Amino acid sequence: MRVSAILSFLLLVPAACFVVSSGRSPATVGTFCLSSSLSPTVPEVDAENGDAPAVGALSMGLDELAEKLGGLGRARLAWDCYSIGIDPALFFGSVISPGAEDFETISSLIPTKRRSHTLAKEALEKLAALYPDTAGGKVEGGVAKLSYMSQASDNTTKLLLRLADGLEVETVIIPMADSRSTLCISSQIGCKQACTFCATGRMGKLRSLTSDEILAQLFFARKICRLYELPHITNVVFMGMGEPADNAQAVIKAVQIMTTRSLFQMSAHKIAISTVAPSPDSFRRFAKTPCTLAWSVHAANDELRKKLVPTTKYTMAELRQGFIDALLSRPPKFRTAMLEVALMAGVNDSQTEADELAEFARVITDSVPGCKLIVNLIPFNDIGQDLFQKPSGEAVLAFQKRLWRQGVGAHTRVTRGDDESAACGQLATTKKTKRAASRAQPRNPKKIA
Ligand code: SF4
Repeated sequence: MRVSAILSFLLLVPAACFVVSSGRSPATVGTFCLSSSLSPTVPEVDAENGDAPAVGALSMGLDELAEKLGGLGRARLAWDCYSIGIDPALFFGSVISPGAEDFETISSLIPTKRRSHTLAKEALEKLAALYPDTAGGKVEGGVAKLSYMSQASDNTTKLLLRLADGLEVETVIIPMADSRSTLCISSQIGCKQACTFCATGRMGKLRSLTSDEILAQLFFARKICRLYELPHITNVVFMGMGEPADNAQAVIKAVQIMTTRSLFQMSAHKIAISTVAPSPDSFRRFAKTPCTLAWSVHAANDELRKKLVPTTKYTMAELRQGFIDALLSRPPKFRTAMLEVALMAGVNDSQTEADELAEFARVITDSVPGCKLIVNLIPFNDIGQDLFQKPSGEAVLAFQKRLWRQGVGAHTRVTRGDDESAACGQLATTKKTKRAASRAQPRNPKKIA
């Protein structure tokens, strides 16, 4: 992953730096500026990274789903539901019916021209056949089930989803100040990159998620935002559990669905894939994906970087060349990129490391015409850590100013949700101790349909 997990802990507040909000509602955000010029190329599954994703309705575009369900109108109606976190198998089945608490609300969210339409028994049976291993073709209760939810005082909301095989994955909704939310999403359960400061890294990799399981996180997050009146999810960062490059095929497929106007309707400019870069090729895998590329560098110095990311097999110069090549393969106006650094006290927060990082960043901007590079500084959140500590505010500010003075754009990410282990990767690793508290209701609770 990316910094992610790393950051995991931190619970990031992402997007503020890398994505510019359009101010439009998710439903009207244009998707395709990037998609049109960067059509996702789904790479072949390789033996090492394997985990070919199972594909169900959530991973199907309109045409493919129309073919399966027997009509474009049926597919549109199903996606009207999925895109707002409603399971059509439940809504049009017998579980939610007229008179139910949420029925009228849900109906009002479906486009007027299809509000009176329904998925009849035959269509529901075809939908169920797309998920033969899950009960009744359901995403909710089939692909995944919400098993735990917690909310911090700043409304950062963590969801733990139990998958069909009983494993659990976490995702975090981070409300921002400007009426939008960022979703920190996971690509794997555990991670094999073993970054020394990362809670997820200590789990090892249990398995990669399918594209349906990745998209189910957005599905549930949209539902929770609707029910708990949280701001719409407009941004997605792959900074939860797992390394996206180790599950590239499913991640790319998921991003493709997220950024399709008729599906999840997200802007490519508001999705960031963050990779720790197991190899220079990691960047190439996402070069054509409609998203912002982010690299979790943590240190520009090879020796220090190897201590923080012990699975690193390449020098920083070799990895940087892969990053440069990937950026050069993108259209100039889509060369915004990020370098992410989890700052730890006495480890990588000195002026020397700032100078090394500035020089490292300059080579990238000098090599890639039109590149807008932003360094994201993420003060380490030392919850439960004994090896690494949070840097002082003075050290973080001095680091940032050192970069600025050398012409390198830098942003310090605000840590969010401290009171609820909000950092990605923390919930799954602490859920046993949290479980007992899971009965506690989030603030402003509403019925979960
Ligand atoms: S161990 Fe994996 S999830 Fe954790 S920071 Fe490293 S790459 Fe990211």
